[in-house]
Amino acid sequence: MIMKKPIYVTQPYLPPLDEFVPYLEKIWDNKVLTNGGPFHQQLEEALGEYLGVEHISLFTNGTIALVTALQALRVTGEVITTPYSFVATSHSLLWNGIKPVFVDVDPNSLNIDPAKIEAAITPETTAIMPVHCYGHPCDVEAIQEIADIYNLKIIYDAAHAFGVQDEGGGILRHGDLSVLSFHATKVFNTFEGGAIISPDAKAKTRIDRLKNFGHEGELTVVAPGINGKMSEVNAAMGLLQLQYIDTAILGRKEVDVAYRERLKGVKGIRCLPDTGEKVANFSYFPILVDSDYPLGRDALYQKLKDHGINSRRYFYPLISDFPMYRGLPSAHRENLPVATSAAQKILCLPIYPTLGMEEIEIITELIGAS
Ligand SMILES: *Cc1c(COP(=O)(O)O)cnc(C)c1O
Repeated sequence: MIMKKPIYVTQPYLPPLDEFVPYLEKIWDNKVLTNGGPFHQQLEEALGEYLGVEHISLFTNGTIALVTALQALRVTGEVITTPYSFVATSHSLLWNGIKPVFVDVDPNSLNIDPAKIEAAITPETTAIMPVHCYGHPCDVEAIQEIADIYNLKIIYDAAHAFGVQDEGGGILRHGDLSVLSFHATKVFNTFEGGAIISPDAKAKTRIDRLKNFGHEGELTVVAPGINGKMSEVNAAMGLLQLQYIDTAILGRKEVDVAYRERLKGVKGIRCLPDTGEKVANFSYFPILVDSDYPLGRDALYQKLKDHGINSRRYFYPLISDFPMYRGLPSAHRENLPVATSAAQKILCLPIYPTLGMEEIEIITELIGAS
C-alpha cells in the first residue's frame, strides 16, 4: 500500500492560523519588526520559565547561536566533539577557525563517550562540544569531571533537547553554555530560530552584544559581533507554539510508545534504550537495523520510500566523512568504530504529533511487525 500523501520524517506542529493573526496585527500596529521588540522580550521570559533557566538569548537560528557561543567563551585551538551529529555542530568550529577533534560515541546513547575524551586532549584543547543526540542526555557528570581537571569549557549542542530533564532538573543547566535550535524540524519551532542558555547575567550580556554586531549602546561597538537577532515574527510564532508544546510532546510520546510496542518482536530491529532522561521530548525515533534483519538498512529505507514514507538516515554519513573534515587525523574510521557502525545501521522513523495510528501500523508492518 502506497500512502496517499507522502509521510515525512517530521512535520511542524502548527497552531490554528487564526490564532497567529492577532500577533501579526500587533506587529503591524507597533511597526517594530526586530531588534529586541516586545515579542522577543516576551519569548525570552516565557521560555526561561518553561525551560527553568534564567538567562536565555534568542537567535536567528541554532547555527549562528553555536558560532556565537564559541566566540562568547573565546574558544580557540582545538575542540573535542562528536562525529555523530548534524554537520552544523562541527561547522560552527570551522567558522571560528577552530580544529575539530572527533571522539567516538557510546554504543548505548550514541552520545560522545567520556571514557575516550581524555586521550584526545592536547595542549591546544580549550573546550568540549558534546551533543545531546536525539534529546538523550549526555553523561554530563563524567564530561564535567574531565573539563574540570583540564580546565576546558563545555558548550552543549542541545539542538535536540528542548524541554528534556534529567534527575536533577532541566538538561540545559549543564556546561558553560547550551545551544538550542528552533528550526522547523525541531520539537519547538519559530520557523527558524535558536537560543543560547547562559549561567549568569554577565555571559548573557556579552552574548546579546555579540548577536547585535557587538553594539553596546548607540555609539559604541565593543566586539566584532554578527547579526544573530530573532525577528518579531519568529518570536510571535514561538509564543504561540509554547501554548501547545505540552500537547505536541504528548502526541510524540504516543507515537514513540506505539512504535516500541509494535517493533519489539521484529528480529534485527533495535530501538535505542532509555538513557536516563526523566522528562523526554520524543524528538526522534531512531532504530538500528542489525545484520540479522533480512534487509540492509538502505534497502529498508528504500522500501519505505517506495511506499511514500520518508525516513532519514540521521546520522549518516558521519560528519568526519565529509570532505572538509575527513583529512583530520581524528576523522579516521579506526578512531571511530562505534559511530561508524551506528551510522551504517541507523534509521529515524517518522515522528510528529499528528502522525496517526493507521500510519504507524502501515510503517511497522512494512518493517515486519505482525
Ligand atoms: C538542527 C541542528 C543544528 C542547527 O540548528 P539550525 O537552527 O538549523 O541552524 C545544530 N546541531 C544539531 C545537532 C541540529 O540538529
